[in-house]
Formats: sequence, structure tokens, C-alpha cells
Amino acid sequence: MVQEFDAIIVGAGGAGLYAALEASRTARTAVVSKLYPQRSHTGAAQGGIGAALGNVEEDSPEWHAFDTVKGGDYLVDQNAAKILAEDAVRAVYDLENRGLPFSRLEDGKIAQRRFGGHTHHFGKGPVHRSCYAADRTGHMILQTLYQQCVKNDVQFFDEYQVVDLLLDGTTARGVVLFELKTGELHVFKAKAVLFATGGTGRMFKITSNALSNTGDGPAILARAGVPLEDMEFYQFHPTGILGMGILITEGVRGEGGILKNRDGERFMETYAPTMLDLAPRDMVSRAIMTEVAKGKGVRGDRKIDDYVWLDASHLGREVVEQKIPDIADFCKTYLGVDPAETPMPVQPTAHYAMGGIPTDVDGRVDTGKSVYDGLYAAGEAACVSVHGANRLGTNSLVDLIVYGRRAGRHIAEYVKNAPDVPASEKDADRARERLQRLRDRKGGRHVGPVMDRMQEVMMEKVGVYREQSEMDAAAAEIRKLREEFQEVTVQDHGAGFNAEVLQIMELENLLDLSLVTAVSAANRTESRGAHSRKDFPDRDDDNWLKHTMATLAGDTVSIDYKPVDISIWEPKPRTY
Ligand SMILES: Cc1cc2nc3c(=O)[nH]c(=O)nc-3n(C[C@H](O)[C@H](O)[C@H](O)COP(=O)(O)OP(=O)(O)OC[C@H]3O[C@@H](n4cnc5c(N)ncnc54)[C@H](O)[C@@H]3O)c2cc1C
Repeated sequence: MVQEFDAIIVGAGGAGLYAALEASRTARTAVVSKLYPQRSHTGAAQGGIGAALGNVEEDSPEWHAFDTVKGGDYLVDQNAAKILAEDAVRAVYDLENRGLPFSRLEDGKIAQRRFGGHTHHFGKGPVHRSCYAADRTGHMILQTLYQQCVKNDVQFFDEYQVVDLLLDGTTARGVVLFELKTGELHVFKAKAVLFATGGTGRMFKITSNALSNTGDGPAILARAGVPLEDMEFYQFHPTGILGMGILITEGVRGEGGILKNRDGERFMETYAPTMLDLAPRDMVSRAIMTEVAKGKGVRGDRKIDDYVWLDASHLGREVVEQKIPDIADFCKTYLGVDPAETPMPVQPTAHYAMGGIPTDVDGRVDTGKSVYDGLYAAGEAACVSVHGANRLGTNSLVDLIVYGRRAGRHIAEYVKNAPDVPASEKDADRARERLQRLRDRKGGRHVGPVMDRMQEVMMEKVGVYREQSEMDAAAAEIRKLREEFQEVTVQDHGAGFNAEVLQIMELENLLDLSLVTAVSAANRTESRGAHSRKDFPDRDDDNWLKHTMATLAGDTVSIDYKPVDISIWEPKPRTY
């Protein structure tokens, strides 16, 4: 039986829940999520949400917008960044009013801390802008929004994985879902469909991202012919726990933590004399890699790679236990290290996709050439683009609630007058055949080794530093892995709770996105933000101040471009 809604929100992270909250004012809204909502990756966000409240010192949304544009190495669409920074203030107070338990200052106002790349007076020095709830900010956002959605009668379908999108030309009309419990496929029809499926970090071997961050939304849309924007820009966060990639929030440095090399030197003095450890992430990650290349890293016990120290021991036990309690727990559990006493061993970890599904400022899928009707995206899966070539810390949570809300509002209006859309059981046929082919395969390959190889290739060849031959080799290897994928065989033939089938489909999504990422990266012959090439070390505004739009068709990725909105600030070289 086809189920009918006005709006379907795919994903129950911060972006999806905020969109659902707004859409549900007028629309019969369903949220579909492969995880229970509170397990969405938003719940892992530690550091905070940036908003120029000025509670600790003078601040302004204009400075926030400027920092966002500069941090993104001028590939940011500037009007979108202006909306982000201005609306962030309202959004944080809105969350406060809905019950989010922010950490407080002595005077009762929302506490704020420093974060990388956030400055006062257009780059004069770091500013306290990140609002936080200890190091559990994302967790609190999820809890708050989920409660509000339940209150608004949003219908939740948990542990349903969307596997196909129904489109009529450029008009959305629903989705096909796989129900984990039964293994059955369902057709949900709706006038509006929003993808808020989160990140793609599982493309890489060392990552801060949850197992579920497999880029399902962008991959499903890419296969439906939607070009993906700026996929070459993938952020490596400088401070992952050695060997595991688990994130140590930038909030540690915001509270005064310092990066040191093997000789105990504060090496960021060389790379970013003003912002030091609070320079943007792309710069700090490169600084760590450069120290390591100079032989100044600390040799790791397990010889995976060299690393550096993140030292918070001088902050005192009280600060560590009150401001970063979860981090202290992670370090004790995974490393046997107490950060109040001993420095933490860290190395860069794959963290955030700046690129994704192209949208306008109302969340509508917009390729630059055409706008889709009833098709929306928000959150990390989308590219507005407010992060450009490199996202500043705390700006993803802002993005979720500012642009998740705007998309939800647009949906609430759109569905009022949108024509009814057709859908029938037959719409599941394409997904059913795909599943059947998967189940019938006899190739004998297991999903694990193909996944591992893809993650190694992307980490080694499309990582912090890049060059032509390596990226071309990565694209070739990924193409080969896509062929091997055709022989990946299901070992578990049970119908109910068959997580293996879902994992295989997730691998297919990651392989598709890896190919788009590697080809987009190989194509851009300059260095900008997180895309840093040894063979083209300089930013090249004359030729490359433009967004990449990459279309996947079978084994080929064709590249087109979209202009960048530079209507407010003229691009300048980045110094910190
Ligand atoms: C460890 C960590 C710490 C971070 N800290 C911060 C921070 O302090 N500040 C900050 O600004 N940013 C931070 N970030 C980044 C930020 O948390 C994420 O970018 C953001 O939370 C993503 O939110 P989202 O709503 O887009 O997606 P998510 O929260 O990842 O949610 C995705 C949702 O989509 C669903 N889904 C996915 N695929 C499917 C499918 N096929 N079918 C059905 N449902 C599907 C999932 O079930 C889930 O509900 C951090 C990220 C990590 C990994």
C-alpha cells in the first residue's frame, strides 16, 4: 500500500528535525530515518554553535559572515553566509526558548567560547562566539528538536532506509524505503521531499564520522541525474584521536589547549601568528602534516603514522571536567590518558563534506540551470554554499538550524498549492529489481574488503595533500572497485533485520561519491581551502573562482561550473 503525506523528510538529524518542525505547521509530515533520531550524527557534535550574541565580548553578525567567507577561502556564496550569520542569533535564542540547556555565564547569559577562524573586527583576533552545552551541544539540539516534533504530531518512521527517489522530470513525488525489521520495500508519496541524510565521512579510513555517514542522499540524487556541487572540498579536522579518528573538539583549543610537536614547541606560531591554534582547520591540519614531514612529529607506538600533542593539562582539572567532560572520558577510555594531566596524541581525521546537493537559500535543489519542484536538501548533505572550500567550526550546527528551518518553511508554503502527484506500488519495481540482483549474485566477494580498500585509497590519495597522479590513480582504482562491487555477494539471506543488504547499498553510495570526489578534485588545478595540491600550491581566482558541478552517469563524471556570489567582499589572500 502506498502511504501518502504532504512532506517527507529523509533524515532525523538537526537539519531534518528542524525542517520537519517548520513543515509540520501546514503539511502532513513524515520523518524517515535509518537510525533512531537521537542516534543521528548531530548528537556527536561537541564544540558548539556559532552566533554573534556578544555575551562575553563585543561581536557582530557582520564579522561572523566575513569570517565564514574568509574561512571558506572565498568560495562561499556571500549572501547565503550573511543570512547564516544574521539568522544564527535568532536561531540560538529560539533553541533556548524551546528548552535547550546551554552552559551559562555567571550572569545567567548563554556562555560562549572561542573557536577556529572566528574573529572580531574582521580578523583582528579570536572572539568568544561559540554557544555550547558543555561538550554535548549536538546531543542537546537533537533532544530538544525531537521533543518539539513529537509535540507537533510529526510522524516518525525509524529504521527505514530510503533507497530510491521518485521523480517526474524535475518534480519530486516520493521515495522508496527499505524497512529494516521486515526487509520489505514501501512507497511513500509526497508533494515535497527533503534530503537531510548527513555526511559522507565513511569514504575515508580515518574519520570522525559515525558508521551511518554514508552519503545516501547525495548518491541517490546523483544517480537521478542531479549534479553534485564542490565535492572536492572535504575537511580534515586536525585533532582526531590517534589511529581511531574519534574527534577531539576544537573547543579544547577554544578553552586554551595548545598543539605541540615532539620537541614541545607550539608550532602554530610559525603557521598562523595571530590566530595560532585557532586558525581554520584546513591550515592547522596542513601544519600538522608539515611538522610530521619535517620529522617533528611524535613516533606513534603502533607506527600507523606520526602525530602531534594536544596539550590541555595546563588548563586545570576543573576546566577539563566542566567544559570538556566527554572528551576527558573518551581519552581515558580509548587511550588511557587523562587530559587534565597528560597531552593527547592527535592526527588529522576526515570530518566534514563542504560539498553536496546544490540548493538555493530556501533549500530547493538548484543546479544553477534549473530548480526542482518539491525537491529539497539541508544540512551536511546539502551545499548552499555557506562553507565554500573550508567550513569553520560551529558553522555546521548553525547551517542545520538556519537552513533546515528555511527549507521547512518553504515546504510549508509550497505544499499548500502544489498539484497532487501520482505514485503506485509499481514505483518500487526499480529498487526491487536492484535488491533482487544483489541477492542473486554469485561473485563471492564480501562487502568488508571492498569498503576497506575504498577507504584506504581515498585517505592516501585524496587526503590532506593532493597531486594529479595520485588523484587520477584514485579515480582509476575506485572505478575498478565499482566493478568488483558487482561481485559483492550477500551472505545473510534472512529477511528481517538484514543489515548486510543495507551495508552493501551504503557501499555502493560511497563508491559513487568517492568517484565524483576524486574526479572533481583531479579537475581543480589550484589550491583553495581544504583542497590543497602539491603541484598547484596557489589559489587561482582568475580561473577557479567557481563552483564545481559534477554529474555522474555510469562510469563517467562530467564537470560543469556555477558562479560564486562575491557581492559583498572582494576575495583577498587568506592570512591568520
Ligand atoms: C564527532 C563530530 C563532532 C562535530 N562537532 C560539531 C560542532 O561542535 N559544531 C558544528 O557546527 N558541527 C559539528 N560537527 C558537524 C555536524 O555535527 C554535522 O555536520 C551535522 O550534525 C550533520 O547534521 P545533519 O542533520 O545534516 O545530519 P545527521 O545528524 O548526520 O543525520 C542524518 C540523518 O539521516 C538519516 N539517514 C541517512 N541516510 C538515510 C537513508 N538512506 N534513509 C533514511 N534515513 C537516512 C540518519 O538516520 C540520520 O537521522 C561534528 C561532526 C562530528 C562527526
